[in-house]
Amino acid sequence: MSAVEAITMAKKEGRNVLTEVEAKNLLKEAGIGVADTRLARTKREAISISSDMGFPVVLKIVSPEVIHKSDAGGVKVGLKNISQVGRAYSEIMTSVKQKFPRARIQGVAVQKMAPPGVEVIVGMSKDPQFGPVIMFGLGGVLVEVLKDVSFRIVPLTPRDAHEMVREIKGYPILCGYRGQDPADIGKLEQMILKVSDFVEQNSEIAELDLNPIFAYKDGALAVDARIILEKDT
Ligand code: ADP
Ligand code: MG
Repeated sequence: MSAVEAITMAKKEGRNVLTEVEAKNLLKEAGIGVADTRLARTKREAISISSDMGFPVVLKIVSPEVIHKSDAGGVKVGLKNISQVGRAYSEIMTSVKQKFPRARIQGVAVQKMAPPGVEVIVGMSKDPQFGPVIMFGLGGVLVEVLKDVSFRIVPLTPRDAHEMVREIKGYPILCGYRGQDPADIGKLEQMILKVSDFVEQNSEIAELDLNPIFAYKDGALAVDARIILEKDT
């Protein structure tokens, strides 16, 4: 399904939230690296997809009503075999149904467990004055508590991406510290530029969040993706 088709379908169903599976498909189509992810509608499907992909895998709830999946008990990581996948599926369903009794549940997203990397985030939101703005920061506590982020207005130039990565206080962390691998900074700049192009070409997107992206010595992968559409278009 193309970006346009996925967006049209969500709107037809009265949703302004794309699921993680839909969002990752669109991003992949736009050349943005994402962890391999497939929708399973039943426990049996979750097990067969996991076996196809190879363990370890991650299972996550797929529901337009569940935006913060971990908070809802909707994420299980590091599943090593089919019995762990089966149990995780049941636990996710129980927890989500308890916390969101009215949620429309499509199933679970089965994805490859990505190796750990430096966690970064790339986001887009629309400023009433400047329009689409791209944000970059380090993941986790650095963004949530310290607000260590940089911003540029879409469309970004290569120079913008270059500067954004370097102007956060956490930049030395990306360069590697205490024996940790440095992050592939060139790849992160490319990813930022691709996100800028992607949102420029898809003006119906109101908000986008790649949180987290795992950055490696070679390459980077978004392991979570959230796309919110404009309400009235
Ligand atoms: P939430 O909706 O709560 O933001 P995420 O999809 O970000 O859910 O998952 C929560 C956490 O689980 C992530 O921050 C990441 O640390 C871990 N995680 C998610 N997907 C993967 C994956 N494919 N591989 C490895 N770790 C993952
Ligand atoms: Mg997330």
